[in-house]
Amino acid sequence: MVSSLHATSLGAGLALTASLLAGSGSGSGTEAPPEASSAPSRPNVLFIYMDDHAAQTIGAYGSRFGPTPNIDSLAADGLLFRNAFCTNSICAPARAVVLTGKHSHVNGVPDNRSTFDGGQETFPKALQAAGYRTAMIGKWHLRSTPTGFDHYEVLRGQGPYYNPLLLTPDGQQRHRGYTTEVITDRALAFLEEAAASEQPWLLMYQHKAPHRNWQPGPNEVGLFDDVTFPEPPTLFDDYATRNPGCASQEMSIATHLRDEYDLKLAPPPGLDEEQLTTWKAAYDPRNAAFRADPPTGDERTRWNYQRYTKDYMRCILGVDRQVGRVLEALERLELSDDTLVIYTSDQGFYLGEHGWYDKRWMYEESLRFPLIARWPGVIEPGTESEELVVNLDFAATFLELAGVPEAMTTQGRSLVPLLEGEAPTDWREDLYYRYYEVGEHAVPPHFGLRTATHKLIEFPDSGFTELFDLQADPHEVQNLAGDPAQAELLGRLQARVRARAAELGDALPEDVGD
Ligand code: CA
Repeated sequence: MVSSLHATSLGAGLALTASLLAGSGSGSGTEAPPEASSAPSRPNVLFIYMDDHAAQTIGAYGSRFGPTPNIDSLAADGLLFRNAFCTNSICAPARAVVLTGKHSHVNGVPDNRSTFDGGQETFPKALQAAGYRTAMIGKWHLRSTPTGFDHYEVLRGQGPYYNPLLLTPDGQQRHRGYTTEVITDRALAFLEEAAASEQPWLLMYQHKAPHRNWQPGPNEVGLFDDVTFPEPPTLFDDYATRNPGCASQEMSIATHLRDEYDLKLAPPPGLDEEQLTTWKAAYDPRNAAFRADPPTGDERTRWNYQRYTKDYMRCILGVDRQVGRVLEALERLELSDDTLVIYTSDQGFYLGEHGWYDKRWMYEESLRFPLIARWPGVIEPGTESEELVVNLDFAATFLELAGVPEAMTTQGRSLVPLLEGEAPTDWREDLYYRYYEVGEHAVPPHFGLRTATHKLIEFPDSGFTELFDLQADPHEVQNLAGDPAQAELLGRLQARVRARAAELGDALPEDVGD
């Protein structure tokens, strides 16, 4: 399985060092050059990419919803990043950031309505040019045809939870079954082929789950009837001191979940007879109990919360089961030792925090995404990193591992030193965030800066500013922007976010005062 190019000896790693020392790209806003790596060269890359998977729902992150055994095993065997954040917390923009290593205003996908320009530089193209066999299987969600892949099978748009159509270079194919399993079946077929070749490979294995509307699969639909999930402390947040958009948003568990579509008071369309029978066996008794004694007021909010979070977690356990199949296949095909496995998501999500579902906001639960990396022989098992890492960093990381750090410029920084357990003294101290979209869920555009301890958010439409002390106030309910004792810090962060925007070439909306 190991070719000369794909050798995993330390000698090959050291030979690569010379080319890495040549430095990185020099694009606008590019951060410090990556340090030389002593890791084995050119591993395979299995990139497991979720849609809306919140870190706080993974056992290894201390989930209040219980264990996620296979994902947790990746953390036990690898490195868990505590502070991984996106630059723009929404699906298509996050995907464009990952592929390009560049912020939304540079890669041309600021919102979900934008079409990704597949003609621009991406890391899959660079890996393909460097001799990797590249594949994209599952959710693509960038409107344009995938580029840079030897093989792709992707959902059209959001795609359904059941019986998906997959688009391929040779046309489209309808598959019967639960989409999480179908995508895995196709990923396993790719791994079988890849294992028979000497080429190193990149597999982007990208799930639809657990995106709204959280339809469980046949193996998980019956779970959780006898448990009550703990509520977050901010389920009934009053939004006092925070920007007016917090109260006027349209993503509230109390009022914006739809009875049939979101809360499953009717079965979804598109199921075949067998799937529908399994579905109804689980939901009909639950729905009958609801209709016999419908809760009202705060009790209805609590009922919505339970129904929503249980469906979400059923989807997660469905993915977890499939991740187990993939890890088993890596072992069986003798690929584990030569493969960097990344488990991550496009952004985080609210599981009742602030009374919400969905994402978009710069608050912690949707700003943070889960990030777990396993690479036997390189990554120390059971370790954690507190460094601030950003979804901009994936491209630079994979370029370095493929031995082509200069193949394209990015605005991120290679994570390879962190994977090797180093703690670079010049690692980033803050990250720049901007949400652009106007429309769905009525979240106002905003921008800000997060440091290891604080967060600044500015809302140009309302002229509102928020400042949080993340250590004293991890739930972000005490806005300190008006506190005279914080004025010096506030001024420093406001200057810093503007300096970062200028360095990165982003034009902020005109200040409307405070
Ligand atoms: Ca998403």
